[in-house]
Amino acid sequence: MNPISDLINDSRKIVIKIGSNVLSNDQGEVNREVLHNIVEQASDLIKQNKQIIMVSSGAGICGVGAINKWSRRGDMNYKQALCAIGQVELMMAYKEYFADYGIHVGQILLTREDFKDAHRTLNIRNALFTLVDEGVVPIINENDSVSVDEIKIGDNDTLSAHTANLWNADALIVLSDIDGVYDKDPKREKDAKLIEEVENIDKLLEEIDIGEKSSFGTGGIATKIEAARLVSEYGISMLLLNGKKKDIIKKALNHEETGTVFTGR
Ligand code: ADP
Repeated sequence: MNPISDLINDSRKIVIKIGSNVLSNDQGEVNREVLHNIVEQASDLIKQNKQIIMVSSGAGICGVGAINKWSRRGDMNYKQALCAIGQVELMMAYKEYFADYGIHVGQILLTREDFKDAHRTLNIRNALFTLVDEGVVPIINENDSVSVDEIKIGDNDTLSAHTANLWNADALIVLSDIDGVYDKDPKREKDAKLIEEVENIDKLLEEIDIGEKSSFGTGGIATKIEAARLVSEYGISMLLLNGKKKDIIKKALNHEETGTVFTGR
């Protein structure tokens, strides 16, 4: 019995969330090799008769890659413009890589408002179910260009949890640049210990140090733990794995790699 491989094996509908730190290299450019490898693993899961929805960050980095003259512009207009440009680059990469496995992709961009309104929620649900039923992989991101603070979900960990709940997923796999949740930030503390299974999220939060937000201003480990809580309310388990490691999902299935699985309700 291994809770990680059991979860993947037992899940038919899987949401895979890819963090911006996974998709970028040390120079802040898109790491195409990593992206291609994740697409390959998603395609493998589809071959095993599973259904996949991807929630992908990375529009901002792709934008910097495409138009690097704006990379240092901090003002919101430029950030939003960069995301508009980068989202196209990101989707072109997904389209090209999934095409290698004969799979089409569809893009869905969402804001917080979309999850608050029952009519919109129903439309998103219908679009997701239709795409997946037809063998297309939906790729979801926050609609950064229109997302001002009031309507922003704010991070893709939360967006992926809402998506998993809306689609009645069996599992949410969050790919980040760490092996899982540790008792303290592993990038700062060398003796940090990995926690492989979390049954009680409140207890976990009392016991660990969750550090600060990441350099891309995304959620850090705190929003990942909150995502686990959100999906747990719908009986969905979350798995946190290191998406920078080649073949991580395959290796987790074969017990060659580990991560953190949230099994609590
Ligand atoms: P992503 O871009 O994948 O969404 P983030 O950078 O937002 O990832 O969050 C993951 C980061 O959170 C890790 O790289 C790690 O440095 C930091 N972190 C802080 N505290 C912890 C902890 N207790 N366990 C794991 N990671 C932690």
